[in-house]
Amino acid sequence: MKIQKKSPDGKQIKMEIKYSILSLIMYSMAFLLVFELSIRGYTLIYFSFNEHSVLYAFISLLLAIIYNDAAFYWSHRFMHIKGIFKYVHLQHHKSKNPSPFSMLSFHPYETVINAIVYILIAFIIPIHPITLGVFLLYNLFNNVAGHDGYEIMSEKSRKHWLLGKFNTITNHDTHHAKPNFNYGNYFIFWDWAMNTLYKNEEG
Ligand SMILES: [Zn+2]
Ligand SMILES: [Zn+2]
Repeated sequence: MKIQKKSPDGKQIKMEIKYSILSLIMYSMAFLLVFELSIRGYTLIYFSFNEHSVLYAFISLLLAIIYNDAAFYWSHRFMHIKGIFKYVHLQHHKSKNPSPFSMLSFHPYETVINAIVYILIAFIIPIHPITLGVFLLYNLFNNVAGHDGYEIMSEKSRKHWLLGKFNTITNHDTHHAKPNFNYGNYFIFWDWAMNTLYKNEEG
C-alpha cells in the first residue's frame, strides 16, 4: 500500500543519490578505519569463533541491535534539537516523501554522527565480523524498507502483540511527513517510552 499518494519526483531522487554517494564514501572510510584498528587489536572485534561460543554470536547480534536502537533514537532526537537540525539533519528531511534512495541521503555532519554510533559497537560489544555483517545487513534491510514509501504489513500484523513492537514502514514515513514523531529505528520501544509515537500507529 502506497503510504503517501504522490510518488517522489526525479529532482528529489537525483538529490538523494548525490548525498548517498557522499555518505557511502564516508561510511567506507569509517569501516576501513575500524578494520585497521581491529587487526591491530584496538577494538573488541574477534576473528575466531573459538574465542566465544556460537550462542554468544547470536547474543552479540541482539546486543548490537538493542544498542543501535537506543543510540539511533537518542542521536536522532539530538539532531532534531532546534539550532542543530538545520545544519545536520535537514538534508535527510528534505525528502518529505521518502524513496529507498533517502536512506543514505545525509549531510556529511550527520554521516559523521551516524558513523560514530556504528563504530562504537566495535568498542563496547565483543563481536565477530560475520555477526557484524549480519547486523549491518539487517540494518540495511530495515532502513531501505523504512524509506520505501510502501507499507507491506497488514493492519492486523501491525497490531500483533509481537510484530506490533517493530517499527513499521508507515512509522518512519510518518516521521518524514511529521518530524516531531517516530524517531525510532527497529522497535517502537523508545518512542513509546518517551511519548513520541504518532498516535495513529499506537496500539
Ligand atoms: Zn529517514
Ligand atoms: Zn529525523
